Amino acid sequence: MRILVTGGAGFLGSHLCERLLKEGHEVICIDNLFTGRKSNIEHLLSNTRFEFVRHDVIDSFKFEVDQIYNLACPASPPHYQYNPIKTIKTSVMGSINCLGLAKRVKARVFQASTSEVYGDPQVHPQPESYWGNVNPIGRRSCYDEGKRCAETLFFDYHRENRVDIRVVRIFNTYGPRMHEADGRVVSNFIVQALRGEDLTIYGDGTQTRSFCYVDDLIDGFLRFMAQTETVGPLNLGNPGEFTMRQLAELTLKLVGGKSKIVHKPLPADDPRQRRPDITLARQILKWEPAVPLEEGLKRTIAYFRGRV
Ligand code: NAD
Ligand code: UDP
Repeated sequence: MRILVTGGAGFLGSHLCERLLKEGHEVICIDNLFTGRKSNIEHLLSNTRFEFVRHDVIDSFKFEVDQIYNLACPASPPHYQYNPIKTIKTSVMGSINCLGLAKRVKARVFQASTSEVYGDPQVHPQPESYWGNVNPIGRRSCYDEGKRCAETLFFDYHRENRVDIRVVRIFNTYGPRMHEADGRVVSNFIVQALRGEDLTIYGDGTQTRSFCYVDDLIDGFLRFMAQTETVGPLNLGNPGEFTMRQLAELTLKLVGGKSKIVHKPLPADDPRQRRPDITLARQILKWEPAVPLEEGLKRTIAYFRGRV
């Protein structure tokens, strides 16, 4: 197949492009390089089945493709809050452009949605049926509401125009090729520990997240796109749940060194807890994350060791 990946030079996108090429597909990657970088896809550029196009998904695009994966959107809070209006435009207009193209060329189209659609959840763990608890006017809203609106667009194009959609809600995912200045917690802690700096826990560190290793997630993407039983929304993530204090301590144990833990103010609307209910993914995709946190952290630390 010929497959378009938006945001293909980012962390997840570059792993997805690599995996699709391994499966024998042609891949067109479009990215404006806001948080992505060419070095993430450098090793793919010599492959004749791979093309990189520097383009912003806010502006329309046309490609003859069989499938579209829409990943373009900054994902780290400091980056999506840097230009919040641009963030919401990217989610909304990027989705409209992907859906319009999918409608025209009859491509199956995938949306990288997020566990942030559940906001600061009052139901725990979060099943797909939960509608969420999102502040519509806060600092995280440009991302959360942008992604919620994108989901609405996907389902309206599906109902109104029979566009063949797949919507996945991704829970915190980490691994090699995260940017060292990404700002998300796993890369922050690893980079800080490797540099011998203090690890910055925001708040008291009792808030929880569930961390999925990138290879597991990409495997879930491909299985989800290949099946025809459900269009989603489908949770993908690792149900292992950790406090930020536990993550900091584990990172320190694995990296070694003399870093200490320090506390910084908790950002506004920071969700207290998050863990995916992956019953649906288990049933339909026969999918289960295989890489435990400690193992995934070791692989990610090995990646960062050469770079920071
Ligand atoms: P990332 O920031 O590394 O990748 C995002 C990519 O999109 C970057 O390459 C960036 O340059 C590109 N991009 C941003 N705005 C663009 C625009 N207007 N036009 C074209 N390209 C643009 O982040 P990631 O972790 O790889 O996230 C990829 C997708 O997965 C995002 O849509 C994100 O919301 C979603 N997601 C990720 C996670 C996670 O834990 N990694 C969790 C939930 C959802
Ligand atoms: N966090 C932290 N220290 C950091 C970065 C993040 O304690 O250096 C916390 C953050 O406040 C949140 C959790 O770690 O409670 C996960 O943050 P991240 O930005 O990785 O993802 P998200 O909040 O979007 O799930």
